[in-house]
Amino acid sequence: MKLYNTESRAKETFQPMRPPEVRLYTCGPTVYHYAHIGNFRTYMFEDLLRRTLQYFGMKVTQVMNLTDVDDKTIRGAWAGKMTLEDYTRPFIEAFFQDLKTLGIEPAEHYPAATGYIPQMIQMIQVLLEKGIAYTGGDGSVYYAIRKFPRYGCLSHLHLDELQAGASERVAADEYDKDHVSDFVLWKKYDSERDGEIFWESPFGRGRPGWHLECSAMAISLLGETLDIHVGGVDNMFPHHENEIAQSEAYSEKRFVKCWLHSEHLLVDGKKMSKSLGNFYTLRDLLQRGFTGRQVRYMLLHTHYRTQLNFTFAGLESVKQSLQRLDDFIQRLQEIQSEGEQGSAESLLKATDSSFSEALADDLNISSALAALFDLVREVNILCDSGRLGRQEASKVLDLLQRFNKVLGFLIFERVGDSIPQDLLEALEKRLQARRDKNWSLADSLRDLIHSRGYTIEDTPAGARLKKQ
Ligand SMILES: [Zn+2]
Repeated sequence: MKLYNTESRAKETFQPMRPPEVRLYTCGPTVYHYAHIGNFRTYMFEDLLRRTLQYFGMKVTQVMNLTDVDDKTIRGAWAGKMTLEDYTRPFIEAFFQDLKTLGIEPAEHYPAATGYIPQMIQMIQVLLEKGIAYTGGDGSVYYAIRKFPRYGCLSHLHLDELQAGASERVAADEYDKDHVSDFVLWKKYDSERDGEIFWESPFGRGRPGWHLECSAMAISLLGETLDIHVGGVDNMFPHHENEIAQSEAYSEKRFVKCWLHSEHLLVDGKKMSKSLGNFYTLRDLLQRGFTGRQVRYMLLHTHYRTQLNFTFAGLESVKQSLQRLDDFIQRLQEIQSEGEQGSAESLLKATDSSFSEALADDLNISSALAALFDLVREVNILCDSGRLGRQEASKVLDLLQRFNKVLGFLIFERVGDSIPQDLLEALEKRLQARRDKNWSLADSLRDLIHSRGYTIEDTPAGARLKKQ
């Protein structure tokens, strides 16, 4: 399996340090609002990565942090006169609900930053002892990026470029730091800003810096060197760069073997923003009548290193793609004839390897889906000519079940809305026949429904059909 490592800017053969285990860290949400579809593009890509690693026999230990302490959460909690915990809880619950709606597999650990404050303090102490951290003019503790020669290795930026770019936007508080790009490890408490939200530490009251949170949680739960660290491209600099600087200066070991970054999601070709009125949460899309499954497909189907342009027209066309797959699966499930032995054998083999090869090539999901739709087309031709029998159909279904471990949007159980229209009409006619006491007509309609593989279920809401 090859993955594009942001640090080396090359596709590399991925080899976990302790196979089959893969230690994967994924930056999670800051829980002060509902996550938007741009956030979910990243989480969806991480789900694809996780499922693909598993597809190739690896065992994934994934950590996704919840940033429940930073400027925004503190501001929100203090403005609402709430504890941080009460303020963030509903957003955390909503986040987990959204993951479920999108069929995103849960990570093994969801650490909250507030649960790792002692570990963060300990890291800062080590960095202070090593002379890499210092106390700034404002009493906060900063990381001196000039003490870390590898700084910029991920984003391929140089210190002098940072200095030059930053000189025009030096704010007053920047004078508290030695270098404009030094970042905060421990932010000194300010009663006006933070209300009653602070932690005690050997370097005074305050709270941890956001970048440090990820380093501390990653090291605590996965160890000093991770196999893969993932995030959105907007987190590459400075967040991930800073994570490397802190973690490597602390442990004196390589922090991450392979870095992956997903590209932006655009809406109608533009950056999503509240002011442009093109800002959507998952909840907004559900309210417009789209399903989690449709959104899943939409977020998944473009390669992660390509910008994904979200449009409502695109989401409408996802419905057609899914309908095509639903119809295909139903057709396979309904085949009763014997057909021709081995009619789909070579096709299945070829599809299986195209699908795997595509995923093994830096998660090329677009090619994998193309292989899937080629299979649909070819098998439909076999069905049309009557060559595909029951046994072969079940082999196709087995392959689809396997693919679905990665895709997660195929449905094998029939649901109400896919019950054939004529059977729904038969159910209605039968109800009328019973009201008319026309028992023989009611019985023959019931037999028709049974013969097509459905039973009639009586529920408080009336009779409905269920696939046997
Ligand atoms: Zn992070």
